Amino acid sequence: MKDRKERIYQYLKEVCACNSVSCTHDEYKAGDWFAEFFRKIPYFQKHPELTGNFMIPGDPYHRSVPWAILLGNSKKTVITSGHFDVVGTDNYGPLKDMAFQVGPELEAELAKRDLDAEARFDMNSGEWIWGRGVGDMKGGHCVHLALFEEYAELADKGELPGCYIYLPVPDEESYSVGMREGAKILRRLIEQYQLDVQLMIIPEPSNWVNGKQSLSRGTVGKIMPVVMAQGVTAHVGHCFNGISPMNFLCRIYQRTNNALEFCDSYDGEAAVPPTWQKFRDNKELYDVTIPLRAYGYFTLLHFERTPEQIMNRLKEISMEALKEECELINAQYQDYKKIDKSADKEKIVYYPEVYTFGELVEKIKSTDKEGFEKYYSEVYAGIKDDIEAGRTNYPDATVTIMQKVMDYADLKQPTVLLGFAPPYYPAVNGDAVEGKENAALKAFEVIEKSAKEHFGRETFNEHYFMGISDGSYTAVGHPFDYDKFSLNTPCYGQLYSVDFKTIEANNIPFILYGPITKEYHQWTERTLKKSLLEELPVVTKELIDSLWK
Ligand SMILES: [Zn+2]
Repeated sequence: MKDRKERIYQYLKEVCACNSVSCTHDEYKAGDWFAEFFRKIPYFQKHPELTGNFMIPGDPYHRSVPWAILLGNSKKTVITSGHFDVVGTDNYGPLKDMAFQVGPELEAELAKRDLDAEARFDMNSGEWIWGRGVGDMKGGHCVHLALFEEYAELADKGELPGCYIYLPVPDEESYSVGMREGAKILRRLIEQYQLDVQLMIIPEPSNWVNGKQSLSRGTVGKIMPVVMAQGVTAHVGHCFNGISPMNFLCRIYQRTNNALEFCDSYDGEAAVPPTWQKFRDNKELYDVTIPLRAYGYFTLLHFERTPEQIMNRLKEISMEALKEECELINAQYQDYKKIDKSADKEKIVYYPEVYTFGELVEKIKSTDKEGFEKYYSEVYAGIKDDIEAGRTNYPDATVTIMQKVMDYADLKQPTVLLGFAPPYYPAVNGDAVEGKENAALKAFEVIEKSAKEHFGRETFNEHYFMGISDGSYTAVGHPFDYDKFSLNTPCYGQLYSVDFKTIEANNIPFILYGPITKEYHQWTERTLKKSLLEELPVVTKELIDSLWK
């Protein structure tokens, strides 16, 4: 076997050359590369049943989840996972295609471009490897692959102390279908071989802050609530005969966007407050009518709160917003009456309503189950075609389904309908996994000591990685009512699903720890050579060995 350093760099060039941009027809190539890599290892030539390339059912991009397992002398098991898709390279400009060719030619071209002072300094130092995916996260994979190969030799000789699963996944930069499907493969392997999983290592890039390398012991949760507001239409010349949905959507926006009441905090770390991504009415043509509906959706990052808690709070806020706006329009009307003699209504009275998607569906079904189900399945099938053809995305598809269900419900009062749009990333704290408490902390301690001892490298850790990661699908941090979540997620079903029961059964703590990398997702993505080729392999090996003890 060649020198480890040489192998890591060789694999990096090969796997980066698979231009596996997320959700494109090239993404599968990196999956095939991994599958082939495993197949070629002599151990798997002897045990072909211990590796495979699982095709994701119904995937429009024909992506797969490759997997491989080394069976050792105890049931104690380590898992390496992480994504093999990358973000696009449009920001490389004319070097768009070259960005996948790691090596001196790419570096020479990048050096001719307008680098900022820090990037220029790094370029001149020659200490960095540049290119799309070198840090996020093909570099980390190549380190783990080089180790995996070495462990396969030990397994071959009957000397591997424990078991080792490798499971690289697609689609992390988009919807994480890879890890959601991968969880099912893990469950099958864990049950089949009665494995006792110690830890999953996801070698996502580490940041370098004040000279220290980062390690994350958990991952933030991300959920996307959709708010659909329906008012009462009227000719604008009779505006007091109607009420605009934008009035109450505005109020809900102001109560939620950047609202600190939604910020979870834990041990000096806080999730950022919610940010709205879209806010608009649903009018497509111009006329002098108050719009019927307005909608928006926002991203809410969280640690501990569950979808149910979030939904309950949004229901309260929505009802308050509706009531306040209904009172306000009456107050405005009372003032208007003083200056217009033809305004002769005594009062404007509304009976506002708030539903979750699940509640509205339930209400419709209670009187018209058959008719609605037929209607709904047609709507859903249409949306499925649109998503698969790339004509829409999950949040907008969710909006469309919600509108169609509201059309069917034929509501007449000012109403707010609430739902969730995929993807949903549950929060996981790697130290709070039941029965495996402090697993991530223990891993950090091994790494901190090893990196310091061998390389003088300082490591710091955080409880929650804020960048959203596949760690969300390794364990259920805070159990909640899974059915209620799926009923309130209009796209849930063939279009999108999370097997929470399987994830709960897997119950795997994890850490995120990889090569020191700067500016990933940018055209100046670069990873520190010494970190990738020298430090990470040694430190990671010490960690893995310690987990089998
Ligand atoms: Zn990543």
